Amino acid sequence: MASYKLLLLPGDGIGPEVMREVEKLIAWFRAQGIAGFETETDLVGGAAYDAHKVAISDEAMRRAQEADAVLFGAVGGPKWADVPYEHRPEAGLLRLRKELGLFANLRPAICYPALADASSLKREVVEGLDIVIVRELTGGVYFGEPKEIVTLENGQRRAVDTQLYTTGEIERIARVAFELAKKRRNKVSSAEKHNVMKSGVLWKQVVTQVHQAEYPEVELEHVLADNCGMQLVRWPKQYDVIVCDNLFGDILSDVAAMLTGSLGMLPSASLGAEDAKTGQRKALYEPVHGSAPDIAGRGLANPIAMIGSFGMALRYSFGLTDAADLLERAITEALASGLRTKDIAAPGTNAVGTSEMGDAVIRELERLSR
Ligand code: NAD
Repeated sequence: MASYKLLLLPGDGIGPEVMREVEKLIAWFRAQGIAGFETETDLVGGAAYDAHKVAISDEAMRRAQEADAVLFGAVGGPKWADVPYEHRPEAGLLRLRKELGLFANLRPAICYPALADASSLKREVVEGLDIVIVRELTGGVYFGEPKEIVTLENGQRRAVDTQLYTTGEIERIARVAFELAKKRRNKVSSAEKHNVMKSGVLWKQVVTQVHQAEYPEVELEHVLADNCGMQLVRWPKQYDVIVCDNLFGDILSDVAAMLTGSLGMLPSASLGAEDAKTGQRKALYEPVHGSAPDIAGRGLANPIAMIGSFGMALRYSFGLTDAADLLERAITEALASGLRTKDIAAPGTNAVGTSEMGDAVIRELERLSR
């Protein structure tokens, strides 16, 4: 049985509550002989600040570097509102992204049939939806220099952010999108604004070159990012994989997220460059939601986003496609059986807690693998 090294960073608020459900799954997969996982657990975010006065310790970073994948819960909360800026809980996540070189953020938007009515769009628009947004995560306007607010001679102030991309940055994110599409429905939609931005012109050229040279068998279309936003709420099922820069990806992935109902349902993966020797990528898997201080400590959180993030680790870090498919089916069945946590329950209906939902997924895993 293959064995993988996982670092668990539960974090703050509901992070530890939803991570507990993944620990049950890890034990289940191990007991079934499907895969072995060696796990280590460490602190991140406010919890790390309380213990070490930093948002992530050097020791936890060393463990992250050595792990085959990192599972991250959530960080932050009102308790740490006044800690020094460089030690705020989010700094732990930013350090992980930077030092592991996680340049590709994958956010699937999957609409489970049982939840199609929870979307703000009509059932026929979202039912069966299964798309992935691939967002460039370490470049673009969030990081480009100059980035400043200056006071001009006439007393006015001027703010500058710089949108900046190099060929290499675009090539590597395009490859992630094409590789992903090959394992799915074989279509990539590249979103930019070449009509008004030079970075959009280069983006379109480079994605086209990578396509022609390396992935001619994959269907490629170019779409203006604003139109892509419109199409996502009009008829999202036309897409398979959407690839875009950091800023457009931030916005489009939030639009896509809401097609599926609740924040508590959304997993994500962040991947780094392929190691030349092993072919393995550094990777971090985390739910899209935050630490939800309003419900933390009450056993109410929906664990499916965290469980789905573990499912993405099975698929993308360990190549355990059958196990990942099985887990997806178990989530679908648990929902189809009518179980709902509070965030996805219809008003007036009974909701189950975090551990009951996690247990239901395991029950379905057992039933499906009999
Ligand atoms: P949030 O995602 O924590 O919560 C938004 C709303 O969604 C809340 O009402 C919450 O109860 C609900 N919610 C979120 N996840 C849920 C789940 N699994 N099950 C049921 N309901 C769920 O966002 P926020 O309230 O804006 O931020 C709270 C804290 O989390 C802040 O400190 C923020 O900085 C931090 N945050 C962290 C991350 C991260 O760790 N990656 C991401 C976003 C926000």
